Amino acid sequence: MTVTQSTPEAMFIDGKAIEGASGKRIPVFDPSTEEVIAEIPDASASEIDRAIAAARRAFDHDGWPQTTAQERGRILFRIAEKLRAEAPQLAELESRNSGKPIVEAEYDVADAATKISGTVNPVPDNALSLSLKEPVGVAGQIIPWNYPLLMAAWKLAPALAAGCTCVLKPAEQTPLTALRLAGWLNELGVPPGVVNIVTGFGETGGARMVEHPHVDKIAFTGSAAVGKLIMKSAADTLKRVTLELGGKSPNIFFADADFEAAIDGALFGVFINQGEVCSAGSRVLVERSIYPKFVEAMTEKARNIKLGAPLDRETKMGPLVSREQCDRVCKYQQIGRSEAKVAIGGGQPAAFKRGYYVEPTIFYDVDNSARIAREEIFGPVATVIPFEDERDALKIANDTPFGLAAAVWSRDIYKALRMVKAIRAGIVWVNHMQPTYVEAPWGGYKQSGFGRELGIHGIDEYLETKQVHINLNEQPIGWY
Ligand code: ADP
Ligand code: MG
Repeated sequence: MTVTQSTPEAMFIDGKAIEGASGKRIPVFDPSTEEVIAEIPDASASEIDRAIAAARRAFDHDGWPQTTAQERGRILFRIAEKLRAEAPQLAELESRNSGKPIVEAEYDVADAATKISGTVNPVPDNALSLSLKEPVGVAGQIIPWNYPLLMAAWKLAPALAAGCTCVLKPAEQTPLTALRLAGWLNELGVPPGVVNIVTGFGETGGARMVEHPHVDKIAFTGSAAVGKLIMKSAADTLKRVTLELGGKSPNIFFADADFEAAIDGALFGVFINQGEVCSAGSRVLVERSIYPKFVEAMTEKARNIKLGAPLDRETKMGPLVSREQCDRVCKYQQIGRSEAKVAIGGGQPAAFKRGYYVEPTIFYDVDNSARIAREEIFGPVATVIPFEDERDALKIANDTPFGLAAAVWSRDIYKALRMVKAIRAGIVWVNHMQPTYVEAPWGGYKQSGFGRELGIHGIDEYLETKQVHINLNEQPIGWY
């Protein structure tokens, strides 16, 4: 491990940069060079508690929930503008991700702050019955490493729009862009304590947030295994929990689909962001009549995927995020070699001396019961599975513990729409794969979690509903 100009970073608690009392630091790597580029504090329990106390105070006493939706919206718009202005630098810091989608996310949710409204309930009495929407309180937000700043925006923006205060923990591998954002929050008018960014490991800092009695809600995006732990732990304090977990999403190709578009969609669906995408179309289901031709065309096109340094504009696939993730994906490549046939890839590219690179890999003749078809790999590994007809496609598509996303490719609108209705997943694309909009709900069925993110759906998850009954009848009740 070489250390070059590693920058010490601080957490952001109650409007202040906090170094971390214990002095324990976690190294942050550049996955393309394996160099340490920064160090972050490993938050102690007392620092997590301090962040939660600040968020609690900001919520209970400093008036953040009482600010008008317009004022909160204005602050979010300022954050969005700042992110837009800093997009090139943020994209560089993120190494592999452009800042643009993040800007969009922040921008549009800011507008939604003023769209939160209650309703009048038609009770059969001389009364006015209202449902009020109120912020749920202090939100603990735990995010993964695959889209660091984007995930921070998906979590912070709806919570702030709703009037919640936040303690956000980025993944220990990728904390830098969230910390950069933290550095701007005071000048952008976010009051102290409203947003706190803590760093550290999930097993310690993250777990502390989940069990803490002063946190009202946990919003988590990450692995299904950790999602299950969080749900169990949150039961002790009956916290609200929303979980966006993994997937094993089917990308389904009927013989009547546009062939060129289909091949592109199959590759893009699973290899985008090195396959480190919760909605990756990692199960490629192909109708038998086009299956051999499909595997061949996919393989040919996959040969042109350019692996390289994340900051190189020609690069289509960078390294995986960490040594740990690289080992994990290599292990699945090995399992796959014994479970199915290899069309391309299956190991690490010889061309790179450093960096956590793995080859884009296509397994074919995969049985849906194989481990590589059932378990989330979170890397550039496609499993191609043949099917006989619509019924068979549906059976295979739904035969998975997950239910995040799916895509159907066909020119037959009847068939495509029958599939859309029958697929058990939270997101279904037709003749496309991966488009994501801040206006449209995002989240899973089954073991892909529950709760929805983005747009007004996402804000709803940070709101409680209060029923208010106002008696309009001046007579006594007359009971006694
Ligand atoms: P991966 O295994 O790919 O790192 P995780 O689900 O473990 O994915 O990580 C996603 C996020 O969850 C990270 O911010 C991580 O620190 C956090 N995390 C991991 N374990 C726990 C836990 N036991 N409790 C709370 N948060 C956790
Ligand atoms: Mg983990």
